[in-house]
Amino acid sequence: METKRLTPHNVEEAAKIIADGGLLGIPTETVYGLGANGLDPQAVKAIFEAKGRPQDNPLILHVPDESWLERYCEDIPAVAYELTARFWPGPLTMILKRRDNVPDAVSAGLDTVGMRCPDCAVTREIIAKADVPVAAPSGNASGRPSPTTAEAMLEDMEGKILGIVDGGSCTVGVESTIIDLTVEPSRLLRPGGVTLEELEEVLGEVAVDDAVRRLLAPGEQPKAPGMKYRHYAPKAPVTVVRGDPNMTAGYIVARMGEKSGVLCFDEFQGYFRGHSVVTMGPVNDQAQQAREIFEALRAFDRLEVTDVWAQSPDDEGIGLAVTNRLNKAAGFHIIEL
Ligand code: AMP
Ligand code: MG
Repeated sequence: METKRLTPHNVEEAAKIIADGGLLGIPTETVYGLGANGLDPQAVKAIFEAKGRPQDNPLILHVPDESWLERYCEDIPAVAYELTARFWPGPLTMILKRRDNVPDAVSAGLDTVGMRCPDCAVTREIIAKADVPVAAPSGNASGRPSPTTAEAMLEDMEGKILGIVDGGSCTVGVESTIIDLTVEPSRLLRPGGVTLEELEEVLGEVAVDDAVRRLLAPGEQPKAPGMKYRHYAPKAPVTVVRGDPNMTAGYIVARMGEKSGVLCFDEFQGYFRGHSVVTMGPVNDQAQQAREIFEALRAFDRLEVTDVWAQSPDDEGIGLAVTNRLNKAAGFHIIEL
């Protein structure tokens, strides 16, 4: 199949791909998504096949505004609308009780569904025009870092999807924050562009799922099914070193091998001369680190490195989302200084 390059001017054609049951690459503010008609089990099945994604890992439904929640969810708590008022359109997915019209293929058989309204006008127009919710995971092959440009998505999906809408680089760069509103207190399942601190302002107490900060033990049941899978990883093994950046840079220099790669803050490049160095933004700009982290991880697959050492931001604000992706890429192989 030939993958057609579309632009934000091709809303009609893009919506037709979705309405006809095809696969479409969609831009969003978080990462590029692999979209299909979320009411069509066959179309949803094709998403899992194109990604090589395990079937027990549910998908998020994307809608153009909060008025669509009623169509696919029930027992919607009032706080859901407080959250949409503040954060939609934006990088927040809410887990809610689903209606029967949501196919099992989307929810992986759970009685809940993830709902999100992306902050990307062209994608909302495509969804509204197709008049169906768009089920979409991130547009990478399963296990690979998520794509934040159309080119990155084509590395994994060329020939597997009917079209991709090029909306430029993603402005957030990490996947949406996922908050489960079906439990008391509400539970953060995945950190993202809407921060834990912001959620607490609306919800009060928020539980942080264990899988956000550590590796689940074998046999341990994750709350979000996707959390048990290795994720975001370059081919070479990654070691994360946490602590004061001057200390972590020194630690890495003292231990790295001849062919080791380094993922570091912009200011620390000079420490690692002669090595394959990839930067992830200035030490104090966590929003920039979020935008760069996945491309940085992808870059190591184009370099000949035996292993990767990474400096780490701290967990404040969107830093929690960056460290979560980095730690997952490292299989939670973390050294604390
Ligand atoms: P991605 O599609 O790559 O952004 O991943 C979607 C994430 O949302 C996965 O980690 C899923 O496990 C999670 N997710 C989607 N639907 C649900 C749900 N109903 N309950 C819990 N987690 C969900
Ligand atoms: Mg993903």
